[in-house]
Amino acid sequence: MEKESLLSLFSSNPDKYYKVSLFDEKGFKRQNCRLCGKFFWSINYKESCPEHENYSFIDDPPTSKRLDFVNTWKELSSFFRKNDHELIQRYPVVCRWREDLYFTIASIVDFQRLMNGKIVFEIPKNPLIVPQMCLRFNDIENVGLTGRHYTSFCMIGQTCNADAPGGYWKDRCIELDHAFLKNVLGIQSEEITFVEDVWMGAGAFGNSLEYYVRGLELGNAVFTEFEGDQSNYRTLDSRIIDMGAGLERLSWITMGTPTSYDTTFGPVINKLKNMINIDIDLNSELLSQYFRIFAEKYSKYENDIKLLKINISKELGVSYETLEKTILPYETLSVIADHTRTLLFAISDGSLPSNVGGGYNLRIILRRTLALLARFGWNVNLEDIIDLHIEQLKSMYPELKEHSNDVRTIIQIESGRYGSSKERMYSIAKSMLSSKKSPSVEHLIKMYESDGITPDFLLENGVIENIPPDFYLKLAELHTSHEPKQAAVVETVTGVRPTKLLYYENASIREFDARILKILNGKYLVLDQTAFYPRGGGQEPDFGYIEGVKITDVVKQNDIVIHKLENESKDSFSEDKIVHGIVDNSRRVAITKNHSATHILNSSARNILGSWVWQNSAFKEENYARLDITHHSALTREEIRHIENTANDVVQRNLPILINVFERSDAENRYSFRIYQGGAVPSNNVRIVNIDGWDIEACGGTHVNKTGEIGLIKILKSERIQDGVVRLEFVAGTNAVRYVQSQDSQLLHIAQSLGSSKEKVVESFDKTSGDNELMKRKFRTLVNKFSDSMATIVSQKATTLRSGLKFFITYDDEIGDDYYIALGEKTIDNDPFLVYVALIQDQERIKVIAFVGIESRKIIKASRIAKEVSLKLGGTGGGGTDKFAQGGGTDKSKVQECLKNFENLLTSILDSSEKND
Ligand SMILES: [Zn+2]
Ligand SMILES: [Zn+2]
Repeated sequence: MEKESLLSLFSSNPDKYYKVSLFDEKGFKRQNCRLCGKFFWSINYKESCPEHENYSFIDDPPTSKRLDFVNTWKELSSFFRKNDHELIQRYPVVCRWREDLYFTIASIVDFQRLMNGKIVFEIPKNPLIVPQMCLRFNDIENVGLTGRHYTSFCMIGQTCNADAPGGYWKDRCIELDHAFLKNVLGIQSEEITFVEDVWMGAGAFGNSLEYYVRGLELGNAVFTEFEGDQSNYRTLDSRIIDMGAGLERLSWITMGTPTSYDTTFGPVINKLKNMINIDIDLNSELLSQYFRIFAEKYSKYENDIKLLKINISKELGVSYETLEKTILPYETLSVIADHTRTLLFAISDGSLPSNVGGGYNLRIILRRTLALLARFGWNVNLEDIIDLHIEQLKSMYPELKEHSNDVRTIIQIESGRYGSSKERMYSIAKSMLSSKKSPSVEHLIKMYESDGITPDFLLENGVIENIPPDFYLKLAELHTSHEPKQAAVVETVTGVRPTKLLYYENASIREFDARILKILNGKYLVLDQTAFYPRGGGQEPDFGYIEGVKITDVVKQNDIVIHKLENESKDSFSEDKIVHGIVDNSRRVAITKNHSATHILNSSARNILGSWVWQNSAFKEENYARLDITHHSALTREEIRHIENTANDVVQRNLPILINVFERSDAENRYSFRIYQGGAVPSNNVRIVNIDGWDIEACGGTHVNKTGEIGLIKILKSERIQDGVVRLEFVAGTNAVRYVQSQDSQLLHIAQSLGSSKEKVVESFDKTSGDNELMKRKFRTLVNKFSDSMATIVSQKATTLRSGLKFFITYDDEIGDDYYIALGEKTIDNDPFLVYVALIQDQERIKVIAFVGIESRKIIKASRIAKEVSLKLGGTGGGGTDKFAQGGGTDKSKVQECLKNFENLLTSILDSSEKND
């Protein structure tokens, strides 16, 4: 369905769709834009719609009040509260309740839930107002430049269900928005223009009125009214008012500053200016004029900002360089303020900068900020800028303070990582500089993806002259949304009623009778009810028997459970027959314990590590379980032990595990979005698993009744499996006891082979390794004693090449390199013309050591020899000094060739170095 044709459908009947009572009351008349053809409503006659207007409010705000960011919110919230709106807290910027989004991108997203690909609305209060922070990464490169683009912004949501108690429809919505602009901000009705538009998404659509003042769009009131498509649609049971207004813009129009950053980040930028000790007059005439013209011409020059700047400089009668000198630091301060505010909200709400998922864009803006600070030589910590935001926003978002320590930790770790990867980045930048080729956008993206090099860094180092305008857009596009998860499907089952889930009604049922509703391919059974738990939520399915035939898999397709038989068995099964099922009890119990342990470990990890820990994924089998959590670094042994102790403490406290089903909005209200550890729940009812306040999650799996039943939780292994994700492998219950027992018998085995006991094994081990050390020392003494005579023999056996140079090469696969290093040293002391090389087999590698005597060193160096020999052995090179060097390779098949051709190799090295001399 095309937006254009929808718009013409609505516009063909403006009285029905667009005209609201306010228009008649105040004398707003419908007009047609001469330039773009859009329809709009204003009191005075206008030739064109406000999209073609200049920002004439800059330096000349049309309001009676001057309100900064926070005070604009105060005025607005008190106005709507007086008009019977409930004020609700912002939702997290990390959108846990929608699988298709990483971040909350609009206020209405708060109230949208996806069910079977369709959006349903859940509006907790009616009507309501919410100051929703939204994150969007499709305009990164415009931030700072245009005066109005952000990576995060506050969208005021004025939302209601028109058909529920307290709700209202178009007339009241526009009446309120107009009253706020006029009575609170003091904007005359003649200044306000309403433009006709449409909105559509996820099967629903409606018309909308965007309102503008002096060329600036302040808000958009969307009336979501229909579902279906243009030719066949019907009115929704619940029509939704979704008015969204940017708080940054509302504040800006009252101040008339050159950009909206001045009002949004005023206190932050001012303090930041002091911290880095630069002087920019935010209200300078040049800045105002510049941004006014910029706004006017931006759309024409979107793809060539530099040309736009050159043209503006001509218009202002200053040189481009003078203009850039004023504008650039100002733009940069705005970018830094924007990016740090976005990081603050995202990390506070539990997201981590990384190379995957939503964390990707966070790392981009974090690294971009660090690169900008470095480029301008501004010595300031990101954490300190973050604190400035917390201070500014404390009355509006007091929760930011709560997580400020966690945010600091993450920012410090990330900054440190960037710092330590810089050296490599410099060397890549250097080689690019020397190649003098300018990289394409694709190349730049590849460099960021593989080496974390931002174009700002390349700009800072003179590798590129400007950042391609579409770089950040293309990069963000690669990482904007999730692919919705798809369950594996055997075959689509239709015409069968939902399976009754006995494992939910009573988790202890292991035997049951059921009627066969359908048999698929002779191998898959659908029953009217089942006690078999199907694979889901990372929990593996139950096994067991139906009529004595083994069940090897159980899956769920929407509401229907499908049982897989081990063998096709036509005789015992026919549709409508009653069958007897038995669930394998020990498997169910083991999985249930592992599953319950996952909840406990997840909360333990969060308690020990920090608020950024979320379940990334989990897997629960009979003998094994793993939990992947979001965390920035690999775990230390100490941390692992701490998590394990905390988890076992919860086991010992024998806490009750309570399971209740709540209406989704009720569950979210009671327990917050923390419940969505395993992802969003596509259902109106949410099954909440509550380990007595220790851990509360929405979960459909099987759980023990009390934590004590788990018995023991043992972490087997922890590993950082990808950037930002750490895996914990563990077992619980009997499996954990068995694991400890097997460790114990391994220990016994070691003790016995050391001729010791378990209790004394450490002592015995220390003694044995001490014995080893002693052996080594004795061996070295022995080598020293014999090496004098060995050295003489080597010298005699050596081949003379030229200029007195002699060489000797040997290969050994028995004695270690200690011996050859000692001997090599001796031989060149003994014979200053000798080149001594040993190839030593060391497990999968061939080690190369090379010594060159003091006389021969004048014409050949040990480091060069080690390098060339290593290359022949398939290695990457060697290193060392003129006298002694080492290297190696893994290609054992080349050893004989190396020995045979060593003379040629030496000759060619000598030839090439003579040429260079
Ligand atoms: Zn127009
Ligand atoms: Zn669970």
